[in-house]
Amino acid sequence: MDSLTKALAYNKQIRIYACTTTELVSEAQKRHGLWPSSSAALGRTLTATLLTAILKEENVTVKINGGGPIKDIVCEATKYGTARGYVGDPYQFYQYNDSGKINVSYAVGTDGLLEVKTIINNEVFTSTSPLQTGEIADDFTYYFASSEQIPSSVGLGVLVNEDNSILASGGFIIQVLPNCSEEVITDLENKLKTLKEVSTMVKEGYTPEDIIKEIAGENNYEILDTNMPLKWYCRCNKDNFTRSLRMLKETDLNEMIDEGKDIETVCNFCNTKYIFTVDELKDILRSKKNN
Ligand code: ZN
Repeated sequence: MDSLTKALAYNKQIRIYACTTTELVSEAQKRHGLWPSSSAALGRTLTATLLTAILKEENVTVKINGGGPIKDIVCEATKYGTARGYVGDPYQFYQYNDSGKINVSYAVGTDGLLEVKTIINNEVFTSTSPLQTGEIADDFTYYFASSEQIPSSVGLGVLVNEDNSILASGGFIIQVLPNCSEEVITDLENKLKTLKEVSTMVKEGYTPEDIIKEIAGENNYEILDTNMPLKWYCRCNKDNFTRSLRMLKETDLNEMIDEGKDIETVCNFCNTKYIFTVDELKDILRSKKNN
């Protein structure tokens, strides 16, 4: 089961949130039929969006468009630990020549922005930062430092099996609190240089607390909240699509009705299809006229 654990470490001088997201990213992979670079890009962004939403205690929408072949990455996460998302092109797969590792940077591109949107009391707040490497983790690290002015380090990773299914996925965010000493920062920086990749830790069965322990060291942290469940969830339903169809012009609806065929609508986020029959289209047209 995917989950997130929150901790303070180094005598309350830093904050660490760590999570596993293997099941959630598997769900995304299956729903969208993702190939490895698309899986890794979407999986890392889903994980980072969840970490951001839970940190901010707000529902968050993240959009990334770096001009690469994957096109847009769009993810939404709630502060309660659910997330959904999609990429413009699910069928992208590139590898680094030297290591054979999945190349995310090329698929995402670096010519664009990371955009984080929150809605607080019906008001939309948007903050953006330029993409750094298109590897997602660096881009979020830079976002937190520049837009939120909180020195942070984000680690994200997704491992993909030969058959494109997801082997492991997870992530963490470390944030330096205002009272943090220089020694702690130096110590952390050194640790991060030799830290195992987070996807490797998840593959080896690490829990979120194990990841925190690996970063902070034994007996150097206190848990604030443990094993908060994380889940893929899409809130779409047929009523949403009925409403969108009702927004169409009467002439367009009439044209669809005259064609005499069912209409298929698809949710971008989860790929669920909703079918509207000609009779349902007629009902929609009628209800539109009555308003
Ligand atoms: Zn949906």
